[in-house]
Parts: sequence; C-alpha cells; structure tokens
Amino acid sequence: MKKKILNEVLQALDIKATKSRMELIEIILGSNDHMSIDDILNKVRKSKSNIGIATVYRTLKLLEDHNFIVKHVFKNNTIVYENTFDKAHHHHLIDINDGHVVEYENVDLEKLIHSIADQLGYELTGHSIELYGRKKVK
Ligand SMILES: [Zn+2]
Repeated sequence: MKKKILNEVLQALDIKATKSRMELIEIILGSNDHMSIDDILNKVRKSKSNIGIATVYRTLKLLEDHNFIVKHVFKNNTIVYENTFDKAHHHHLIDINDGHVVEYENVDLEKLIHSIADQLGYELTGHSIELYGRKKVK
C-alpha cells in the first residue's frame, strides 16, 4: 500500500499515526479480498503487532464511516469488509456452503438494470445484486 494513501487515510480519520494503527490499516486496506472479521483478526495475530480487538473494531467502524471500506452483510449471515479503492463496480455471488464471495461483472446485466429503472420512470442512483448458490458437482 502506498505511503501517500496511508497518510491520506490517517489524516481523514483524524487519528494519531501510531505504528500499530498504521499496520492495522495496511492489513485492512492492503487487501483486495472480501475479509471477514476472523480473516482480519488472523492477519492481525500473524503480524505480531500489539493491536487489541477493540482497536480493530473501532478502526473498522472509522474506515467504514469515511467510506474507505464497505461492510457487506449478506443474507446468509456472511459479513465481509472490502476496500473501496481502485475497485470497479461489481456484484457478488455468495457460496452458501463456505461463505466464499465471488465477484463478477456483466455488461448486459448493467444495461438491463438501467433499462428496468428507465421503464419504471426512475433515474438509477445505485443498485446491488447478490447471487447465492452452491458449487455444482461435476
Ligand atoms: Zn466485492
């Protein structure tokens, strides 16, 4: 993760740039994955830095409030965090067996969504489509 971005984040959050906080923010924002709280806590543990669980939760909330991350709460109770940097618009498919989140994009789907809104007389300001499924057995 670039130093410049990290500094911008710290400035926006208006928090002191302690070493452990910076490491934590790197862990959270340095990944393009969809991370559960367990994923994040595991990474924190592996980093061997002195970051308490309360700090993790507080920092996640701050990052969410400032739109650096999005918290997805899917209908199968999977909760994951995802950073909002450099990520193109996409949708999610959630594996109902293991909670794995797959990203997909589809131009035809985007066109269809916009035409539906249009037909209903609305200008679309956002949309969210989640697919749920299990892997096909071959
Ligand atoms: Zn995603």
